[in-house]
Amino acid sequence: MTLDDNRDNFSDKREEMVNIQLIRRGVSDDAVLRAMRHCPRHIFAGPANEGRAYADMALDIGQHQTISQPYMVAVMTELLELSKTDKVLEIGTGSGYQAAVLSEIVLRVCTVERIEALAIEARRKFTDLEYRNIDVKIADGTIGWLEEAPFDKIIITAAAPDIPAPLLEQLGQRGIVVAPVGDRHSQSLLKLVKDGSQIHKSYHVPCVFVPLLGKYGWDS
Ligand code: SAH
Repeated sequence: MTLDDNRDNFSDKREEMVNIQLIRRGVSDDAVLRAMRHCPRHIFAGPANEGRAYADMALDIGQHQTISQPYMVAVMTELLELSKTDKVLEIGTGSGYQAAVLSEIVLRVCTVERIEALAIEARRKFTDLEYRNIDVKIADGTIGWLEEAPFDKIIITAAAPDIPAPLLEQLGQRGIVVAPVGDRHSQSLLKLVKDGSQIHKSYHVPCVFVPLLGKYGWDS
């Protein structure tokens, strides 16, 4: 099974998803649209979700976790202002879909997942689909990935009370962090831009993510 085998069966669904759910709602970054037209969401969603893999909703991936709605994946990816040379850290690998979308755009993706079974399954899919620029670590991602720092961009795909301090330290000088920040039950997407010693924050769409659990997240 390779990416190209899968592209044939689901490419119409992906095209429709991109046109109706993303472009009509204002997503315009060409690299993001191209990646989401190509990346096989149905593989990451798993066989039980195949029929709704390209629907306008989040999907259950087991272990009480979810893959975000396609629109949320697109908005977060667009807010990161990615370039081809970026090294990106993701906290919350989950199914691996967001990491795969990122990896189609950037040089390297380092992704951290606390639930071993999810990390192992995502790793297997990256190998099968020949995504060769993604590394998965099983750990508490709120402390980051020191050996791989600094990162050009950081994305947190679980709801955080605030941006964990170690992640800010591991962000490069002109780096960007995108994360759902708020309380355990509702958040807004926060975009944080580091500009030397200054930090600029802006809040974007409201959202609901599963909680970020760990040392600098919520208690489990
Ligand atoms: N990005 C994923 C969806 C993430 S769901 C995708 O595309 O499918 C949120 C994930 O964050 C869950 O898998 C959860 O186990 C993980 N998570 C929560 N707290 C974490 C932590 N401290 N470190 C790493 N992963 C964490």
